Amino acid sequence: SDLYGIDAWGAGYYSVSSQGDVQVNVDHDGETVSVSLMDIVSGMRGRQLDMPVVLRVRNVLDDRIATLNESFASAIEQGGYNNVYRAVFPIKVNQQCHVIEEIADYGRRYNHGFEAGSKAELIIALSQLRDVETLVVCNGYKDAEFIDLGLYARRMGYPVFFVLESLHELRLIIERSRALDVEPLIGVRMRSSVKVDGHWSQDSGDRSIFGLSTTALLQVVTELREVGMLHCLQMLHCHLGSQVPNIRNVRSGVLEACHIYAGLIAEGAPMGYLDLGGGLAVDYEGASANSTHSMNYQLDEYCVNIVESVRETLDPLNIAHPVLVSESGRATVAYSSILLFNILDVRDSQPGAIPEQPPEGSSEFIGHLLDVLQRVSPDSFQECYNDALFYRDELRELFYRGRATLRDRALAEDICLAVMQRIAKLLPELERVPPELESLPEQLSDIYYANFSLFQSLPDIWAIDQVFPIMPIHRLQEQPTREGILADLTCDCDGRIANFSLPSGPSTTLPLHALREGEEYYVGVFLVGAYQETLGDLHNLFGDTNVVNVSVNADGSFDFVGELQGDSIADVLSYVEYEPKHMQEQFRQVAEEAVRSGRITLEQRQSILSAFRDSLQGYTYFEHH
Ligand code: PLP
Repeated sequence: SDLYGIDAWGAGYYSVSSQGDVQVNVDHDGETVSVSLMDIVSGMRGRQLDMPVVLRVRNVLDDRIATLNESFASAIEQGGYNNVYRAVFPIKVNQQCHVIEEIADYGRRYNHGFEAGSKAELIIALSQLRDVETLVVCNGYKDAEFIDLGLYARRMGYPVFFVLESLHELRLIIERSRALDVEPLIGVRMRSSVKVDGHWSQDSGDRSIFGLSTTALLQVVTELREVGMLHCLQMLHCHLGSQVPNIRNVRSGVLEACHIYAGLIAEGAPMGYLDLGGGLAVDYEGASANSTHSMNYQLDEYCVNIVESVRETLDPLNIAHPVLVSESGRATVAYSSILLFNILDVRDSQPGAIPEQPPEGSSEFIGHLLDVLQRVSPDSFQECYNDALFYRDELRELFYRGRATLRDRALAEDICLAVMQRIAKLLPELERVPPELESLPEQLSDIYYANFSLFQSLPDIWAIDQVFPIMPIHRLQEQPTREGILADLTCDCDGRIANFSLPSGPSTTLPLHALREGEEYYVGVFLVGAYQETLGDLHNLFGDTNVVNVSVNADGSFDFVGELQGDSIADVLSYVEYEPKHMQEQFRQVAEEAVRSGRITLEQRQSILSAFRDSLQGYTYFEHH
């Protein structure tokens, strides 16, 4: 059975093979070609690309680009819409060079453009211009340098839009365009009054920090008219927020945008482009529901809704259909990346051996605890829970006063744990679980220590309680026998994952397999291509992970089309302003002093210094060799 819900959230890209491995499925001319992730992992091992690794599958990214563009094209064709769709990829969602270059190269056939929110992102977008029809949409606050860069691209003939965030910016754009003698293409970002569901609801609504008020929109028209540049106002931009889970919100947002678009035309602006921003959600839970990490619609439905709403609103007003633009980031890149890591160790919460009778001379509380253990039943579990904790704490009291031994304490804790285990087994059969017992399964679950940093690789789990699909990538023909949470390598109690979405519903634990001696156990976190790769930080100085890009061929073989070594220790130290060469010299002096005072030999000094040098060049994560 589909224990982890992969058939629901995998969207066909991921499934379980008959061997019990997770496989990635790609399309080659209508044929599905599958590759086991374990075969890719074995290729990584051969290339000494240690865990953790971000694995990107190029075919999946290409398929997302194709699906987005083709879904809009088909909605346009079927809906009798008289203009085209143009996607722009918001660079902030994944700025990594391989990803951006692939979007530019593969997306070329669809004229897939870019959205830039800063000067650095604009420079990326400009370096990726392939065709003179490729749109670039500039959001965010723009200084003169930003504007000049965009105007130069305009002079070369590229449709680069400045979307206004403020009136101040408009004046600067007018000034710079006169100075360089280049006409700008101008867009306005409206402040939508539609409140959306989900985590990013504050990106829209009257109190949103983004976008121009209705009055400010009219002021833009007035000022542009005054300087004879109203013909430059050609785009309306509307972004409701990321991960909009509810299709009804999308429809309401589009309706409002269409009326503002029509209003701007009535004011004399030519318009021509309607940019509906991001928001197309990803179903991280596979639940098909209006909830934060899911969505109640499919891509086709999203496209049809937008195309229909625009046509139905503008036709009665006799307004020509605009070029439809969307800035879908998450839905374009989430699927193609997987974070893979190995498990280093497991701490289980199994009690030690428990005797039938209290050992000779042990405290009376041990006897009471053993009685409680015998009594656990569906009728008495609450009482047993209270009693077990009471007697355990009484024994701890004795221990603090020096009247119980370390062995007494260990035995009392073990019996108490055994009582909790028995109660936890009863919980699934109960009609109502008392609130104080709800967290028992999590408290009793195993801790799987995993080789990654949550803060570096999955920052949204920490920052916004994001839920990603997580599962072992092999041994799936075997029923998992353990329930665990995941703890990362950082020394931070927030560096843990205890929130999973399973087909049975939200869970604080994940079914996992017992580790086997001498065998690696690999876990994958899926759908991590959006926002995770650069929002991460250097907590505990765990750096960028290794990255592998693979491309699956029609014959089922695959190529490592890109491999990137993660940060070395010297790299991360230099990010926090150390000078690795200087550190080597400092450590040399430490070693030299140890030689001088006879604590080590010269030979030992050599091996100590070479270990220090090698470590500086090594990976920041746990290494087995
Ligand atoms: N466009 C703008 C202006 C945004 O602020 C964002 C992200 O919030 C996006 C596009 C991308 O949104 P998404 O990743 O939901 O497609």
